[in-house]
Amino acid sequence: MKWVIGNWKMNGLSESLHEARSIGDGVGGWTGKVVSMVCPPATLIARMTMHCAGTPLEFGGQDCHAKASGAHTGDIAAEMLHDAGARAVILGHSERRTDHGETNEEVRAKVDAAWRAALTPIVCVGEVEAERDAGRAEAVVEEQLTASLPDALPAQENEDLIVAYEPVWAIGTGRVPTEADIGAMHGQIRAHLVRRYGEAGHRVPILYGGSMKPDNAKAIMSIADVDGGLVGGASLKADSFLAIAEAA
Ligand code: PEP
Repeated sequence: MKWVIGNWKMNGLSESLHEARSIGDGVGGWTGKVVSMVCPPATLIARMTMHCAGTPLEFGGQDCHAKASGAHTGDIAAEMLHDAGARAVILGHSERRTDHGETNEEVRAKVDAAWRAALTPIVCVGEVEAERDAGRAEAVVEEQLTASLPDALPAQENEDLIVAYEPVWAIGTGRVPTEADIGAMHGQIRAHLVRRYGEAGHRVPILYGGSMKPDNAKAIMSIADVDGGLVGGASLKADSFLAIAEAA
């Protein structure tokens, strides 16, 4: 099973509903082979869920608060995302880590919140360019995994955790690591998950994210331990989303 998850970031208004519907109608052909999901702005989740009813397209949030409710102006609880129709939530995206100073420890608390609300957390990790240039990419990702992921998975068997490797320097830049570098990092992440969670660590999907496009998706998704893509810019339009889903 491959995963194609679109991160729409702060893009999308009512008029985007038809784009989501086109994605939902198009991905029907790959049911059972590809799980397709769009993570739109939170304002669109409920409406998209209704607008795409009857299609296999799923929806996710882009962040959540660690608490279930309370005096947190502007924040959104995992329970609210679930209530709106989401089944997953992106956590620790580099734009959250940079723009909002989000720490590994906060991400870890949000993973627990996602599980509490029956959402699958999609935990993002990845090095910045200076760290890769300094030969520290592996160490940085290892540190992020160690501190961002809880020590145990919940008891149920389903996909209850997704990890996305997103080298920060590849996000929105058109630059992509070599296949060897992607393979090495995904292998390291897999080894970490198995060390941490035992047999269940083999079942955690590991997605690649960073300038994935229709023309490189097939090659990237053929690399060992790449279970799909977390796609930003190329997920906004139905034709490129569908081309990536087809490549998966
Ligand atoms: C992202 O921000 O999660 C991402 C992968 O963006 P892009 O595909 O545009 O590089």
